[in-house]
Amino acid sequence: MAKINSTPQDLIIISQEAKKFAYSPYSKFRVGAALLTHDGTVFTGCNVENACLTLGICAEKVAISKAVSEGHREFKAIAIASDMVDTFISPCGGCRQVMREFGLQWEVYLSKPDGSFITKTVKDLLPVSFGPEDLLK
Ligand SMILES: [Zn+2]
Repeated sequence: MAKINSTPQDLIIISQEAKKFAYSPYSKFRVGAALLTHDGTVFTGCNVENACLTLGICAEKVAISKAVSEGHREFKAIAIASDMVDTFISPCGGCRQVMREFGLQWEVYLSKPDGSFITKTVKDLLPVSFGPEDLLK
């Protein structure tokens, strides 16, 4: 956990560092994530695979779970990194729903290894979604 005055580029670099810890012996597909909270704390995550393949955990879920487990629920942005040089890494549908649990208007930086990125909001990635407001009426 670190605190930074982060730009998207800073967060992407941290996500690339987190990717180095990926435990992905089966897919060889490494993913890193860096989640920026409202108070400037950054939580990182990497994918953690399992021999029971369905038990693998995505980098984004790891980062969000780490943050929530330490009392953080308000997020500004998450950067995601992979080794794909031609494609911006994009969160899976499950991670989009997990992100959405904590709001629609925060940013997701989809990056490439060269540091280039595109910015989306959670709402861009999961429009017309089901969320806490639907249950807590
Ligand atoms: Zn995912």
